[in-house]
Amino acid sequence: MRSHTSLWRWVLGAGLIVTPAVYLVPRGGVLWLVVSLGTKAAMLLALALGVRLHRPAHASPWWVLVAGTFLYFVGDGIRYPAQAGFFALSHPSVADAFYLTGYTVVLVGLGMLIHRRSGRPDWGGSLDALIVAGAVGVLWWLFLIDPYIDDTSASEFAKLVSAAYPLTGLLLLTAAVRLAFIPGARNTAAWFLGISLAAQLLADTTYSITLLGGSFSPGSPAFAGWMAAFTFLAAATLHPSMRNLSEPIAELDRPPPRWRVPLIMAVALIPPATLVVDGGRHGHVRLIAGGSAALIVLAMARVSVLIGDVRRAQARLRQTERQYRTLVEQVPSVVYTAEYGESGRWYYVSPRIESMLGFTPEEWLADPDLWYERMVPEDRERAMADDTRSRTSGEPLQSEYRLRARDGRVVWVRDEAEAVLDDEGNRVFHHGILIDITLRRHAEDSVGRLAAELEQRVAERTAELEAANQELREAKDVAERANRAKSEFLSRMSHELRTPLNAILGFGQLLETSALSPDDDESAQQILKGGRHLLDLINEVLDIARIESRSLTLSPEPVSVDDVVREAVDLILPLAAERGIELRLDPSDPSRFVLADRQRLKQVMLNLLANAVKYNREGGSVTVFYHLDLPDHLSIWVSDTGPGIAPEDRERLFLPFDRLDADRGGVEGTGLGLALTKALVEAMHGTIGVESELGRGSAFWVSLPLEDAPDAGTAREAPSEPLVAGSLQVRTVLCIEQHPSDLTLMERLLANRPGVKLLTTIQGRMALDLAREHAPDLIVLDVDLPDISGEEVVRRLRGDPATRKTPVIVTSADCTEGQMRRLFAAGANEYLTKPLDVQRFLETVGEALGAAPKLEVEEHVVGGPVSA
Ligand code: ADP
Repeated sequence: MRSHTSLWRWVLGAGLIVTPAVYLVPRGGVLWLVVSLGTKAAMLLALALGVRLHRPAHASPWWVLVAGTFLYFVGDGIRYPAQAGFFALSHPSVADAFYLTGYTVVLVGLGMLIHRRSGRPDWGGSLDALIVAGAVGVLWWLFLIDPYIDDTSASEFAKLVSAAYPLTGLLLLTAAVRLAFIPGARNTAAWFLGISLAAQLLADTTYSITLLGGSFSPGSPAFAGWMAAFTFLAAATLHPSMRNLSEPIAELDRPPPRWRVPLIMAVALIPPATLVVDGGRHGHVRLIAGGSAALIVLAMARVSVLIGDVRRAQARLRQTERQYRTLVEQVPSVVYTAEYGESGRWYYVSPRIESMLGFTPEEWLADPDLWYERMVPEDRERAMADDTRSRTSGEPLQSEYRLRARDGRVVWVRDEAEAVLDDEGNRVFHHGILIDITLRRHAEDSVGRLAAELEQRVAERTAELEAANQELREAKDVAERANRAKSEFLSRMSHELRTPLNAILGFGQLLETSALSPDDDESAQQILKGGRHLLDLINEVLDIARIESRSLTLSPEPVSVDDVVREAVDLILPLAAERGIELRLDPSDPSRFVLADRQRLKQVMLNLLANAVKYNREGGSVTVFYHLDLPDHLSIWVSDTGPGIAPEDRERLFLPFDRLDADRGGVEGTGLGLALTKALVEAMHGTIGVESELGRGSAFWVSLPLEDAPDAGTAREAPSEPLVAGSLQVRTVLCIEQHPSDLTLMERLLANRPGVKLLTTIQGRMALDLAREHAPDLIVLDVDLPDISGEEVVRRLRGDPATRKTPVIVTSADCTEGQMRRLFAAGANEYLTKPLDVQRFLETVGEALGAAPKLEVEEHVVGGPVSA
């Protein structure tokens, strides 16, 4: 491809070098013949090669040109040897036939090219070409054709053939001019083609003139012209731009260049001018006058075509103008052109101005100050600043301001404009639009107002919420304080109630063990029953209160359900046996662990089992079984064969002090057990429920989260050291007790123990002295003392080497876990809550003192009077 594109340079270069070189060889000789004809043959080949190589979309005009040129060449092939004197050639000869046919074919080729390229008729261009050809034709006739016609020596046929050359040359000229006048940029191939045609015409003219002058010979410059014509034609077809030459031009509507009309007119004036110069010759006047008249006709035709063109152009312009005007007037905004500044002239304003502001465009244009005057005064400064900025910087104008309409309405407008430059590049005015944005501005204002209102409301609500929150916080504080007060009150009350109960139950149990008459024994039993009931009530109320005030501390751990259930069942067995009720433990899946507080779970099971035994029929049974609540819970079921619970009563079951109608059935109870049980289960993140059928029995269930079995190493540690005392025969027990009744109870209880020497005191400090002095085997210590606290006493005992090892049993009406932990931490060995379970107390003392204490009692009352 690259080699094609530069081939034309080589051919052109070679042709242009060889053409003058022909004049260096002896003219008319064989070498001359070979070089001239050889070069032409080579150019002819190059010509055909160019058409082959570039393959234009419309190749036919080019092939026709090639054919015409070939015919020239054949003519040359006959004429040149005759010129060189090889043989004589008469006039006219066969060579003339080839030449004239060649001309015709080339003319056809050019016609095809013109037709293709111009795409549609261009009368102006054709007329121009005809005027030029007419003017040149007149001259030609005058100087080239007329002499032949006048030649009396030649035959008529010879005259005709001679005259045919300038005539066909004239046609060629017309075609060349027509081709040149097709509007649009000319490419290289077009230029080469034009040069080729010009060279041909020049050569033909020269030939005719020299022939007429009788000086034509192989040295004539006409030969160079013909070779140049071949060379440029070859270069034109070899040049790549030849492909575009036979394509229709794009710019059809382009007006002819300005120089065209004066040029044509000047050319048309040549014949009359010639007449003036050559006015004397006869016959020529008519010819030139006739030619000039024809030219005038042509020129007039041309002018009328031009006028038509102008009219059409004007019509087109009007139509476009109408289109744009409608467009501008349809725009739902005002379109304008105006000078800058407050009293700048307005050149145009679209009719919309009337519906927008109530002024007609004429009124608006007539008064340059109107715009500034109608502007709301507060907006003027800003609008003028925008105007000035756009003018000085050249940036587009964008401004929003208010204009007062004729009827007083305020119209918000957005002014958008471009600065327009004059020929010197100065900014002269604005092309712009005024858009009515009143609605948008109102909408924005309302949105703004609404947003502000909304903000205001949000602020108010936030403040209200804040206040409500504050109230809630205060209420919560009050509630928490009340709760704390309640739980403090309850534990204080429980403490206060336990102290007298200690005496009631303690002495009652003492009486129980004494030999009493049946009536007295009955009385003692009633005292104990009443006391125990009261104690249950106190314990349960306290637990519920603790759970409610969230002061109950739980120690959740993996608990073996089976272990706990078995322990609870063991404890209930005596009660069940007493009532002739069978207790069954379903052995399925005993190895489960749940996450719970061991003690509290046992308490839950004891409650449910006790109820199942209490509310059962004679000879009935209680069954405990487990159920896996997938995926991660286990429920423990306690099912009985009692009377069952009516569906409407089930909701009341868990309410405190609601015993349904158990009181009537004579079954003892507080009505607190299930309420406490439910509270405990829920505190351990479990659930409790009941299923029951009247007359068949009830089944209570507790569901708790399953837990993995604990590692083998984490067995529960013993809370305290085992109670080990010395193996002395007489054991000294130091008893520190503030309440006289409790002190008396201690004395009575321990008085029954053989081999025990009892030392008593009501003060802590005194107790410490006694302990140091007497080195007792056991210390029984009440926590509430008038001077120092029991905890402090334990700590000091443990701090003294003499008493470091002495076993200490703490007794207290305070059964809170915190207190127990503190005392164990201080060094207590055992913690017994009051009212004392006499049996348990005696066992604990027995363990501490070792087996078989001696029957000896010695009482020491130190530190104040003791009244029984
Ligand atoms: P208490 O047993 O001290 O009365 P509870 O809170 O344990 O209090 O039980 C409340 C009431 O629920 C009982 O008085 C009794 O009427 C009823 N109840 C509890 N368990 C059963 C049961 N297994 N079968 C029938 N009724 C029961």
